Amino acid sequence: MMTITETGTDTKQFWLQERAALTGLPRGKGLNIAFEAVDRHVARRGEHIALRFRRKDRTSLDLTYSDLHRATNRFANALKRLGIGPSDVVATVLGRTPALFITAMGSLKNRSVFCPLFSAFGPEPIRERLRLGKARVVVTTEALYRKKIAPIIADLPDLRRVIYADGDFDGLLAAESDDFTIPPTSPEDPALLHFTSGTTGKPKGALHVHEAVVAHHATARLALDLRAEDRFWCTADPGWVTGTSYGIIAPLTHGVTTIVDEGEFDADRWYRLLQEEKVTVWYTAPTAVRMLMKAGREIVRNYDLSHLRFIASVGEPLNPQAVIWSNQVYGIPIHDNWWQTETGGIMIANIRGMEVRPGSMGRPLPGVEAAIVRHSDDRVEIISDPNVEGEIALRKGWPSMFRAYLGEEERYRKCFAGDWYLTGDLAKRDAGGYYWFVGRMDDVIKTSGHLIGPFEVESALLDHPAVAESAVIGKPDPVAGEIIKAFVALKPGFAASPELHDELLGFARKKLGAVVAPKEIAFLDALPKTGSEKIMRRLLKARELGLPEGDISTVKAS
Ligand code: ATP
Ligand code: MG
Repeated sequence: MMTITETGTDTKQFWLQERAALTGLPRGKGLNIAFEAVDRHVARRGEHIALRFRRKDRTSLDLTYSDLHRATNRFANALKRLGIGPSDVVATVLGRTPALFITAMGSLKNRSVFCPLFSAFGPEPIRERLRLGKARVVVTTEALYRKKIAPIIADLPDLRRVIYADGDFDGLLAAESDDFTIPPTSPEDPALLHFTSGTTGKPKGALHVHEAVVAHHATARLALDLRAEDRFWCTADPGWVTGTSYGIIAPLTHGVTTIVDEGEFDADRWYRLLQEEKVTVWYTAPTAVRMLMKAGREIVRNYDLSHLRFIASVGEPLNPQAVIWSNQVYGIPIHDNWWQTETGGIMIANIRGMEVRPGSMGRPLPGVEAAIVRHSDDRVEIISDPNVEGEIALRKGWPSMFRAYLGEEERYRKCFAGDWYLTGDLAKRDAGGYYWFVGRMDDVIKTSGHLIGPFEVESALLDHPAVAESAVIGKPDPVAGEIIKAFVALKPGFAASPELHDELLGFARKKLGAVVAPKEIAFLDALPKTGSEKIMRRLLKARELGLPEGDISTVKAS
């Protein structure tokens, strides 16, 4: 049911209230993300730990809000001295290190645009993104520079300065003053440049403004249940939007302690972190959850996770099995939520206290007017009946909406029809207002006159004890139009065989019925994923059909 969508007054009011809950620059000089995240805490919570870095060698380093305040002031001063000004892009090619956070916040103080790049990118994707953003400064490490930037440096005419986090970074800061006054900042000033995951094609550069902080703050309270005393862990890599919106900005605006893990995934290591750091709120992703499920429930017993009170997930559909597993093993559900690089913040979520329906992404947050629509050209038809498939649309007006696809005006324009932003994702809404993900428009399979979203087929396969991960595609077929082909990766202890193949076909057919069940199944050691851990169905399809693989800049090397 759509209740508040007609006038939009309630949502406007909501965002005004949320804006009022922030501090704003002194003397009415506007709204700056870094002030809300860092400076405003200094007087009352200056000695509170803002960031705890857990190094690979298991030592740790703490930065208080006051430490962060001083370091980011110094970085902003350094940028000024280097002649880097408002709207100039400052990029990072870094892991989760102190320099990343200092660069993010220092750049925003200087009204420069912060652009985090995935540190596992090779030279080519880095070149493309730095060129598109006309980046002036890159902060990286000496090793990453040698491997990834040196080969392309001649092709970056806008770049003024490379700063080494493990080299001249500290010296640069040491030479500057602790004092910096954030210049007047309009909420519409550009602040963040994020590249999309490239799951469906060539990544787009989404530009966000300082006003986005209103949404970061509000949605973290609503959808992640963040409170000032929390110890929060976001597992997302800083190269993707989640790693900034909820890995850097939102927890700081709430004054919480964020745990930053510099290491990579390892089930024991993760559980140890949850235990030792007494993590209360944990934000992760379906791929990680599936890996933890693969590691089994027994090892969980070795750890005390009693501080954990809220778990959330984003990035891909969260299979219902994962929610059920979490309830059984952690004693609390995983709260799925949905958003995109373009939306800048969480839009649809399972929030605390609301009934979790496993497999559903939850309901639109206050302030978010979502609808299931059909559209042609500029006409948008809102589907108000429940359980009908359509595209998720969001009514314009939330603060963290992207303001441009950099260098692609036409493409940006095409994302909107009238008042609505069209997301490219298909879903259904049930009578209770819960949204159920069906698939991306690009991934939907047309078989024998039916439209089938990959998600339900993949989830059905996951119910089989041998299956760790699955992805399905439509494979052209002269009779059916397309047939459904599934790719599966098996759990440890299971091996591919013709028997297992047939068993899985039969299993899926029984669960899904003949039309929706896959007709072919292939076994893979691992499914191809983006660096942000999303399964790349388009790549499976291209390989299956022997077609060019398209833009594969974000594929994770495995
Ligand atoms: P590109 O736009 O370049 O193809 P991408 O869409 O994967 O890449 P992101 O903005 O990082 O880039 O991801 C957003 C997308 O991830 C959503 O549009 C949706 O398809 C998927 N997604 C995010 N959260 C969920 C969720 N909870 N359930 C299902 N899908 C989700
Ligand atoms: Mg997208």
